[in-house]
Amino acid sequence: MAAVTATARATPADPVAPPPRIAGHGTSEAEWRAAGWLDALPRWNIRTLLGDARRLVVVAPHPDDEVLGAGGLIAAAAALGLPVWILALTDGEACYPDAPSLPPAMLARMRRAELDVALNRLGVQSGGVEHFRLPDGMLRHEGAALVGRIHRLLQPHDLIATTWARDGHPDHEAAAAAVAEATTCTGCRRLEFPVWGWHWSHADGRDMPRERMGRLDLDRGLLARKLWAMRAFRSQTGRGIDVDAPILPDRVLARFRRSFEVFVR
Ligand SMILES: [Zn+2]
Repeated sequence: MAAVTATARATPADPVAPPPRIAGHGTSEAEWRAAGWLDALPRWNIRTLLGDARRLVVVAPHPDDEVLGAGGLIAAAAALGLPVWILALTDGEACYPDAPSLPPAMLARMRRAELDVALNRLGVQSGGVEHFRLPDGMLRHEGAALVGRIHRLLQPHDLIATTWARDGHPDHEAAAAAVAEATTCTGCRRLEFPVWGWHWSHADGRDMPRERMGRLDLDRGLLARKLWAMRAFRSQTGRGIDVDAPILPDRVLARFRRSFEVFVR
């Protein structure tokens, strides 16, 4: 997910776009529950989502985004025997820039290891992750090189999931833009999932593309796997290291403990 206080651009094509901000405590999960519109979203079951996909490829800006936004989808696909591949664009090494005891190289190692544990808990086969090791916080500068690298790894009939194009974090939006440009293979389809969008968007859904959203309901087994995988990110939850302000405190994790995941297509 990665720490940031950023202002993302509203695109000219979207006149209602607010200035997304990732600051403060954001919209609480209690507010999302009370709003009700998430309950009314179309149900997309796993077969509908996967369609004729031959692989699920999840492109994650930081280790944890794939689990927070799509851990249930990943676990469900893996349980059906579909090959799952994670493209980890950065190691999230810039998450604690003010912690001298946690230098970036150490954080990168920790977060790669946490990701391996999390993916194993979701049922992803070992080796199912490609580490790009691009600089955390700087994906918007990767341009055509990132597009080309993703493009070369895609195959016909891949289902590609990544962070929402207007998620409010520069890396998340850069990942979405690169994936959109790279997904030109025959029969490939694309899904996006909010991560930081659940923080800054209004609970009434005015900031989100509601007409293009649907939800994947997670049964108890899938949800349990997702929660187990989320607990692997100890550097982010603050349970494994000594930091004053972990990236994923309980109020943030609450948004990802839902018994459903929301996708944009
Ligand atoms: Zn992230």
